[in-house]
Amino acid sequence: MYTLKKDISKFSYLNIKDIENKVVIIRSCLNVAVDKDGVMTDATRFYESLPLIKELASKAKKVIVTAHLGRPEKKDKALSFWNVAEKLREELEEDRIEVKLVDTVKDAKASKAKITVLDNIRFFPGEESKDLEARMKFAKELSGLADVFINDAFADYRESASTYDIATLLPSYLGPVFIKEVESLSKFSAPENPFVAVLGGAKLSEKLDALNALVEIADKVIVGGAMAYTLMKAKGIETGKSLIEADKLDIALEIVNKYSEKLLLPVDHLVAQEFKSKSPYEYTETEVIPVDSVAIDIGWNTIRKFKTELSNAKSILWNGPMGVFEWIHSSVGTKEVGSAIASNLDAFTLAGGGDSIAAINQFNLKGFDHISTGGGAMLAFLAYNKFPTLDVIVK
Ligand code: AMP
Repeated sequence: MYTLKKDISKFSYLNIKDIENKVVIIRSCLNVAVDKDGVMTDATRFYESLPLIKELASKAKKVIVTAHLGRPEKKDKALSFWNVAEKLREELEEDRIEVKLVDTVKDAKASKAKITVLDNIRFFPGEESKDLEARMKFAKELSGLADVFINDAFADYRESASTYDIATLLPSYLGPVFIKEVESLSKFSAPENPFVAVLGGAKLSEKLDALNALVEIADKVIVGGAMAYTLMKAKGIETGKSLIEADKLDIALEIVNKYSEKLLLPVDHLVAQEFKSKSPYEYTETEVIPVDSVAIDIGWNTIRKFKTELSNAKSILWNGPMGVFEWIHSSVGTKEVGSAIASNLDAFTLAGGGDSIAAINQFNLKGFDHISTGGGAMLAFLAYNKFPTLDVIVK
């Protein structure tokens, strides 16, 4: 669990002195959902990042925006920021602020526009290079563009040139999104009990560290989605053709044995003949998944069991869907569990991660105390006592 070592407000971008004369480089989280042409299909993260960009546009000498989009293997239009830049242009049109999209550091340096957006930072090989010297070389190029650095990308918590190394080279500050995340998540360093954590999604392996940390600090950990089946299989329960991670069965068994009192796993399921949206489906009566079936959602007994636990909680953390919520028939578990969390007004409720946010929007769930922009970042913050992209600034 991360504990704040310093008052982070001192590291806020609001404390930049004399900003009118400064060129500012910011790292935003603009990892929006896009279609195959790169047109935004969900602009939540764009709008979250916008206030800082707008504010700096009216105050700083020049602003360079950096961010990543998806996991590009090469430069391509689908993962370019052309649509983000267009949208930014629309937003700033009224104030007659010029926005320019560039795809080289050299062009960013030459740009006279008030706002210069550097295209997808992952188009640059140095950004995430395993060769730390190459990463630092790229960070130096970026730092050469500006006088100060602001990191507003809490969600992009992995160390890279634009999120970490650059902060070792320039006077650095935190942006409002980053600060809000840290302040809200810090409330979980002393969660009111009962504290119930709800984890779901496809892969146990991706949430293993968080699960290990949460079973220590939570009173109960509810696990749904495919990650539950690896835990069930480790216990010797039949999981049929459901998605499991065979190489994680040993560690899964350790967890289920050690924390049998705390872990709540599904007791029934919605199963389909095949993992296809149109495949016939039915509910099981027990926790056993028929050998020829694949589980795609939690069943009603499980929903009731999870809801009872959630209604008594005073702190709730939610990350990951309970089933394949993208299909209507297997979205029921996620919808019901999500609504139970949102409607517990006595509890401090926190949700995070792309899929949980998508479910919250899809089912129009209202009432969360905080919705984190980061999924992995939120879990990493809660699981460890270090957060490199924060620690490098808050020293
Ligand atoms: P994650 O990115 O790990 O949070 O996983 C989210 C994905 O898990 C969503 O796309 C869900 O469709 C998927 N998921 C949830 N439950 C299941 C399941 N029972 N079988 C297969 N995929 C699932």
